[in-house]
Amino acid sequence: MRRISVFGSTGSIGVNTLDLVARQEAQVVALTGGRNITLLAEQARAHRAELAVTAHEDCYAALKEALSGTGTEVAAGTQALVEAADRPAEWVMSAIVGAAGLAPGFQALRQGTTLALANKESLVTAGALLMAEAARHGATILPVDSEHSGVFQALRGEDATTVERLIITASGGPFRDWPADRIATATPDQAVAHPNWDMGQRISVDSASMFNKALEVIEAREFFGIAPERIEVLVHPESIIHAMVGFADGGLMAHLGPADMRHAIGFALNWPDRGHVPVERLDLARLGQLTFRAPDENRFPALRLAREVMAMGGMAGTAFNAAKEIALDHFLAHRLAFPAMAEVVEEVMTRLSGGEGFTSPPECLDTVLRMDHVARTCAAEVIAARQ
Ligand code: NDP
Repeated sequence: MRRISVFGSTGSIGVNTLDLVARQEAQVVALTGGRNITLLAEQARAHRAELAVTAHEDCYAALKEALSGTGTEVAAGTQALVEAADRPAEWVMSAIVGAAGLAPGFQALRQGTTLALANKESLVTAGALLMAEAARHGATILPVDSEHSGVFQALRGEDATTVERLIITASGGPFRDWPADRIATATPDQAVAHPNWDMGQRISVDSASMFNKALEVIEAREFFGIAPERIEVLVHPESIIHAMVGFADGGLMAHLGPADMRHAIGFALNWPDRGHVPVERLDLARLGQLTFRAPDENRFPALRLAREVMAMGGMAGTAFNAAKEIALDHFLAHRLAFPAMAEVVEEVMTRLSGGEGFTSPPECLDTVLRMDHVARTCAAEVIAARQ
């Protein structure tokens, strides 16, 4: 029986993953969550998990109590997450949100596992290191972001040297048609109300600001090793086409699917085969039309910032993601206006970009984590100075 672990099992991706895992023959090794102890315990019971881990030590007692008498081991804390990733598993879902997903993902790769990577922040923060670690240990990384899964599927059997460009689509989020002055007043509740996708709170806000697409452009660069100028973003409000690959002969291969993450998760779960996945089948005649437009980088500057990050290289992605995470925390806490998130990130990049080693590739994970910390501190200072 295949051994499977799910990191971030209590989140949107985690719940969808377990829905599919439950339909297969599998031994669930580790499930991890944050503060949603009720759901984590419920999942551990339902899937007879060997181990359940909460990221927060103050949640240990509640989890231990909730799982007493089940035989599921219980652990807590960030080190416990890394130790959980050390348990042999053939297939691991990386679906913790934010840079917190980086260290467990790294550890899982050291087992030579197949890592289904939803946690795009890992590639943005430490892409080259992650890919090198996978190669060193004979591990496989499969994309779970729907756009990257779409590109991956369109590239199957193709000669990578004939790829001219990648096009990843963006719904445009809830503020797609809002003028800049209205976007300036956007609240967290409005930002999480994504028109097409049902996702976690943080990625929903990132979709509204286009920071999600900015992260995805960098993720595509790191995953597929393609030059930044060959990666395009196309606003496609219907979210039916997730990605397209353009080839040397002018042909475009598009990946279409419903706005249901279980397709991309299921693809990764069944890979290298294809298996049945219980998602809605598209009825294109009923849909009638698909529309496209260019992104507006004035109202949504995150995409421009992503291009600057890729031009800088080195640890710019680490700083970019960390600053974005802090700015997002403050927006969610009503301490920062929506457009100020991009302003804060830009200011952090400006402050840090002249620093020693900033544009050099990091030698190890510790160097990355140090930069992550520096950028978080800098973002907090930039925000404090604005108050
Ligand atoms: P959610 O916010 O729904 O879930 C996040 C998960 O991470 C939860 O299990 C949460 O635990 C856990 N978590 C939160 N903070 C920490 C922490 N500091 N340490 C350890 N665990 C933590 O996120 P999503 O499922 O939406 O997204 C997960 C990842 O997948 C993100 O990287 C996102 O960008 C990516 N992704 C998501 C998509 C989607 O459709 N949702 C699509 C493509 C990519 P708890 O809730 O118990 O506190």
